[in-house]
Parts: sequence; structure tokens; C-alpha cells
Amino acid sequence: MGADRYNLLKGKMISFRIKQLSPSPTLALDAKVKQMQRGGVLVINLGIGEPDFETPSNIKRAAIKAIKDGFTHYTETSGILELRKRIAEKLERDNQISYDPAEIVVGCGSKQLLYSAFQVLCEEGDEVLLSIPTWTTYIEQIKLAGGKPKLIKLFPPFKLTASHILKNMSSKTKIILINSPANPTGAVIDQKELEKIAEIAVKHKVWVISDEIYEKITFGKKHTSIGSLNKEIQERTITINGFSKAYAMTGWRVGCAAGPKEVISAMGSLQSQVTSNTSSISQMAAIEAISGKQDSVEKMRREFLKRRRFLISALSKIHGLSFIEPEGAFYFFVSIKKILGRKLKTSGSWCESLLNKEQVAVVPGEAFLYPGYFRLSFAAGFKDLSESIKRIKRFAGKL
Ligand code: PLP
Repeated sequence: MGADRYNLLKGKMISFRIKQLSPSPTLALDAKVKQMQRGGVLVINLGIGEPDFETPSNIKRAAIKAIKDGFTHYTETSGILELRKRIAEKLERDNQISYDPAEIVVGCGSKQLLYSAFQVLCEEGDEVLLSIPTWTTYIEQIKLAGGKPKLIKLFPPFKLTASHILKNMSSKTKIILINSPANPTGAVIDQKELEKIAEIAVKHKVWVISDEIYEKITFGKKHTSIGSLNKEIQERTITINGFSKAYAMTGWRVGCAAGPKEVISAMGSLQSQVTSNTSSISQMAAIEAISGKQDSVEKMRREFLKRRRFLISALSKIHGLSFIEPEGAFYFFVSIKKILGRKLKTSGSWCESLLNKEQVAVVPGEAFLYPGYFRLSFAAGFKDLSESIKRIKRFAGKL
């Protein structure tokens, strides 16, 4: 194609829908860090949203066996029955919700299932209530589905309550999105509030999408699935979960959604035209993850707990920083409002400067629609955590 013709088409090449899309800021930061590392810069990456542990060896062995057995072809689009049965057992055992395997769909990570759920439930202009700070994937996915994100601004301790929901509901509200434990704050919604939110959803006939991906990583707080509270709310809830965080399986791409059959089979139909099944090998690995020995899950949680303790003490000694102790997930959401202003005005520029001057990567609050903060992931070993604390202290001290 001639250069002129190419330039003529260029402006119109990408659809409006996709031009509106903001790429994942956390993945963009990760790409930048990897590029710096390839160039020989020793960056400590506390920007990542994935456990730093190896996938447990029993899970790896199940995948190797699947390959050796030739289980390497297409499977049922929504996931093999055996896996959906095991997920149903897990939901009964761990979350006290009864589902039939036909009410479960397995896909390429919980991210894909969230996307499918919004596509299936949202009509043009429907409002989806969600709180900020938030994982911005939700926002982009809601928009891609024609929905309108209605943002509820939370303040420390960043806990969503029923009164937040009531104040923000309108006749256009179609979905309440909850994420507990939350990314990036680690906040866990209180059981009483969860009960009230469930009552509201049932009374106003709105859907609940409950992203429970961090359920296994909590620190003294019990996780409750909103769908377990009663039959009425179960019928209005899509429970989303996955294998990435609990089993250190981010690269395997397995997630699941459970909910009313009609919605789940519509999600399956959508998936059948987009990705088909997730990897057959990953599905066999997921069966082992969910039904094999679970000690590695607790081992990882305990390690996160130790790091959390260390960071509570270390971060509180750095002048100008403040934070809420996370109740779950593996992030600290740290306020730097007190030290912004003179040299660096935004958390975005603060984090960029920290990366360039001290080679520590953390994610600016802007990436969670909440400037003035940064998210520090403690999915990193003690050596990296204590070294980065020294560097953050030095950097903050110079401002
Ligand atoms: N939900 C939340 C809140 C997350 O933080 C993430 C990943 O960081 C996901 C879902 C996606 O997980 P996956 O697609 O790997 O299952």
C-alpha cells in the first residue's frame, strides 16, 4: 500500500470503541519495568499483581500428565465437566453456595469472565455501581459492554457500605459490582454491610457481580460470598473467581463464574465465539489445584501475612506516608498526599521519579482513579521489600 493511501486510512483505522479504551496501566508499568530490566537496570518491581511463588508442583505435574496423555485438544467451550463439578464442590465447601455444574463456566482467567458477564447483562446506558479506588479493568469492560460506570468514591478505610449503594442507585442501575478483598486497598466488606447490600439488590432487582479472586488471601478477616447469604441473592449474583492468585497460576489463564443458568449459558455462548475453551492442559492443572492438597495455599497466605507485618512497621516509620492495614489481597495503598506538592505534584510523577531515581516500581493511584496514593504489592521476597523500603525512605526524605 502506498504511503499516502496508508496515511489516509490511518485516522479511521481503529474503531471509536477501541480508541476510547485505556490500556491496563498496571500491565503497562510491568512492560516498562521489564524493558528497563532487559536494558540491564536492576529494578525492584513492587508494581506487580501476581504472587511471586512458583505454581505448586502437584499442579505442574497434573499439567505434564495432561500433555503426556495427549489431552491437548479443544474441550467443551465452557470447561470440562470434571472441572466444573470440582468447582461446584469447592463453592459448596468453601463458600456455602450450591451450584450445578451447568451453572458454572470456566474461561481464560477471571478477567475474561468479568468481561463476559458485563457483555451478557448490560444494555446500552445501564449503570453499574462500583467504588473507587478500583481496578480499572472493570471500568473499561463496562464501557465496552455499553454500560455506564457509576463511581462511588470511598475514603479510608475504603469500605463499601449499603448506604453508599443506596445514595448512588438510580432507575438505571443494573449491576452492583463488588470486589472483596479489594484491589488496590485490601479492604474486606463487612458481613453486616454485605447482608444489607444483598437486601438492596433483591429489593431493587439489580444484579450483583462479585469478584472474589483474592478470597484465599485474608488476614484475620473471614471472607463471605454474597451469593451464600440466601437463595434470593444467589439468583441475582454472578460469583467470579479464579486460580491466578490463590494457586500462583496467573500464566495458566483459568477463571470461573457461577450464577443462574441462563446467564452462565449466555456467557458460554459468547465465549464460544471469542476464545473457545481455555487451555485443556490448564484445565487439568486446575482440577488438581482445586481438589488436590491445599497446604500450599495456606503456606503462601502465611508468607504474605509475615510480609504484611514487616511492611506495617516499616512503612509507618517513613515520614509523610500513611496507609490502612490491608485485610486481604497483597497490596498496601499508601497515601503520599502530605509529601506531594513542592517538587512533585502528582502521584504519577512521584512514582515515575521513584522508578527513575531509585529503581523501585509501584503503581500510582491514578491507575486506580485515586490520585495522591501509590499501590505497593508485597508479592515480593523480604530482600526486595526491605531494600525497597530503604530506597523509598531515601527518596521521600529528599522531597
Ligand atoms: N480481579 C481483580 C480484582 C484483579 O486484581 C485481577 C488481576 O490482577 C483479576 C480479577 C484478574 O485475574 P485473572 O484474570 O488472572 O484471573
